[in-house]
Amino acid sequence: MDNGLDYLVSVVDHLGKDESGDDPGPRNLKYAVLHLQAAAEVLLKARLEREHWSLVADKVTEKKLSRAKFEGGDFFSITPAEAVRRLRDIVGVEISPEEASNLETLAKTRNALQHYGLIANYEVVESLTAKVLDFLVRFLDDSLLPELSYEEWEAIDQDVGYVRAGANRLRAYIEERLERIRPLLVGLEERTVLCPRCFQDAVVVESDRGGDPNVVPRCRFCETDWLPFALAAEYRIVHHAGMFSANIPACPRCGQTGTVVRHVTRVCDLVQSTDESPQGLHDDVTFCFECAAPVPDQVPGGPSDAQPHEGGA
Ligand SMILES: [Zn+2]
Ligand SMILES: [Zn+2]
Repeated sequence: MDNGLDYLVSVVDHLGKDESGDDPGPRNLKYAVLHLQAAAEVLLKARLEREHWSLVADKVTEKKLSRAKFEGGDFFSITPAEAVRRLRDIVGVEISPEEASNLETLAKTRNALQHYGLIANYEVVESLTAKVLDFLVRFLDDSLLPELSYEEWEAIDQDVGYVRAGANRLRAYIEERLERIRPLLVGLEERTVLCPRCFQDAVVVESDRGGDPNVVPRCRFCETDWLPFALAAEYRIVHHAGMFSANIPACPRCGQTGTVVRHVTRVCDLVQSTDESPQGLHDDVTFCFECAAPVPDQVPGGPSDAQPHEGGA
């Protein structure tokens, strides 16, 4: 618990303005993401450990796990995704599909930062951090703090307050920015999709690029832009889509497969949350980022991996 909160305090500090009042630089942003991922992992596992220590260990039966080995650190720990699954299925903690997917994406962003040197800007890190921080604060309130003794609670109370205030500041900044960009997105719902960097529904895919290299998909929230194939590639790295890349259909308009991604949710397919369905169930499509149009999954009468033909039929 102490360790997890220590990481969260560090996240809030790294995202604060520097001495000269400027937004945090790349190094601070990097540590904000790394420490947020570490905090999430440590806090989720802290709750599992309170249920039973063996829930933190991978393959409990295979490695002749014992309490002594566990305490000596001689065991393989579960993945963050498995921690979420066990919290839900075994402990009975409520974690919405959206929260689980934010956590998973955070883990992937951490990996991308570490392995590919992904450059993330301030808006990206702030937005992702705010989503995960909101979840972790709720998780602390609902699932961890009620388990603590008074002494344990007293020891971390100040840090919890600090993190809560930091999360509120981030949320206020993001709301303000979303309010500002809302008018820019009106009428573009059929080709506006989730941003794989900042996770706001704000990437507008261009439907007619006309060979102009400056007309490319661009996120109105974090201002990141990509060539269509690069956006598709990033979707595959960051989202599950990569696992299904083997049988991606070619786009019937441009003939490409490299710009096509499965399981893309457009803003027009999002359903408003209701009391009965608080998360708002939604549809997704296979989508071409070059043409800004859905791609049918089965081309009638042809093999799904057919090579594209120049000039069409
Ligand atoms: Zn974005
Ligand atoms: Zn296309």
